[in-house]
Amino acid sequence: MDWEEFRARGRAAADWAADYHLTLRDRPVRAQTRPGEILRRLPASAPETAEPVDDILADLDQVIMPGMTHWQHPRFFAYFPANAAPVSVLAESYVSAIAAQCMLWQTSPAATELETRVCDWMRQAVGLPAGFAGVIQDSASTATLCAVLAMRERALGWAGNREGLSGQPTLRVYASAEVHSSIDRAIWIAGIGEANLVRIPSGGPDRAMDLSALSQAIEKDRAAGLMPAGIVACVGGTSAGATDDIDAVMDVAEAEGLYVHVDAAWAGAAMICPEFQTLWQGVGRADSVVLNPHKWLGAQFDCTTHFLKDPETLVRTLAIQPEYLKTHGADGIINYSEWSVPLGRRFRALKLWFLLRAHGLEGLRQMIRNHVSWSEALARRLNETEGFEIVTAPMLSLFTFRYAPKGAADLDTLNQRLVNTINDDGRIYLTQTRIDGALVIRFQAGAFGATAEDVDAAYDVIIEIAATFKPD
Ligand SMILES: *Cc1c(COP(=O)(O)O)cnc(C)c1O
Repeated sequence: MDWEEFRARGRAAADWAADYHLTLRDRPVRAQTRPGEILRRLPASAPETAEPVDDILADLDQVIMPGMTHWQHPRFFAYFPANAAPVSVLAESYVSAIAAQCMLWQTSPAATELETRVCDWMRQAVGLPAGFAGVIQDSASTATLCAVLAMRERALGWAGNREGLSGQPTLRVYASAEVHSSIDRAIWIAGIGEANLVRIPSGGPDRAMDLSALSQAIEKDRAAGLMPAGIVACVGGTSAGATDDIDAVMDVAEAEGLYVHVDAAWAGAAMICPEFQTLWQGVGRADSVVLNPHKWLGAQFDCTTHFLKDPETLVRTLAIQPEYLKTHGADGIINYSEWSVPLGRRFRALKLWFLLRAHGLEGLRQMIRNHVSWSEALARRLNETEGFEIVTAPMLSLFTFRYAPKGAADLDTLNQRLVNTINDDGRIYLTQTRIDGALVIRFQAGAFGATAEDVDAAYDVIIEIAATFKPD
């Protein structure tokens, strides 16, 4: 394809995108295919000769699309949202066309300076104090890895990178069992070892870390000659929105000199609403904070904002400056590749800039407030419905419930069957989780295109399908 052909194809792609989004409600949310079905329809080897683009596009519609789960569907209530607002999709088209590598200031000055600016817009919007500096990472998982590496190197006086971990003191990192699996991965990759990720018991309505257990664990580790390095706290845990008391965590961390990373990958988006900022009271005292504009806010994946109180610690951990990467004489400029693991970097700031300008913070706040109030209303309705119980109350727009009709014996099996039947039906999409051992159903409202009617539809589908179940 040459650029002249691209001109017409690009216009057709924009039409396709708009049609796709405007007809999403007619499609089953979760793909209704069986494992291997798509694979079998794909040739085993790449073609030796060029194929017509029309054939490729026909296969997109006929082979690929039936096997897609529609994350932008207005009735996607599973996992977390991965919203792509139309304006951010548009921005990504420009990013694809420009296709720049934004690793150093000089490899794209505008990309670097826009990244600095939009990160600071976000910092202000979520109420982080001046002095925090932001960087856009590809994912919260990467931001957490960066934070764990920084806490490791700070604790070891930067000896880990230099000498390796053998011969170093044994590092200890503390977190509750509610944190995301990306924390375990970061601990493995950083060479700290799962055995040194100390699980602090959590409880109460917020499923928050028990702070006296945290202090005791640190004290016990010091007495045993181990080296506490940091704490990973969560605001809006993945399973049911568990939220640590950040101020109280910081009291312990500051007394012990520990590095604190706050994972607010999903819930952090809601902090653009001042009334929700109490959920992470004290966050301005943390060292590192991550939130994903690519989840709820609508910046097309991938777009993670990672805020650091002292970026120097991270840069000292990650910067490598071979001769060909040195930007001679330009001191005081930012090379964002020194803030992240990969060298190459996409121009992610552009979509966040488009998004924040096209919707305004107030437009995005309204969306989040709607989702939260619709979700609370649904939880109330389910709670008032015979046979249903709310297991964890709404944390923002996320709650869990289960179907427990009188006389039902095996509730785990019953609820798994209910989720499966709902997802096979296709009108809505939900997922399950375990709360204190019990299998429960998760609900979150967060799709960019969702309306109050879509959330009402969720109620109708749940009740209708549950009514077809005979208690056994
Ligand atoms: C989604 C999520 C993550 C992982 O985010 P990625 O950007 O996919 O790596 C981590 N922590 C929490 C709390 C999340 O909700």
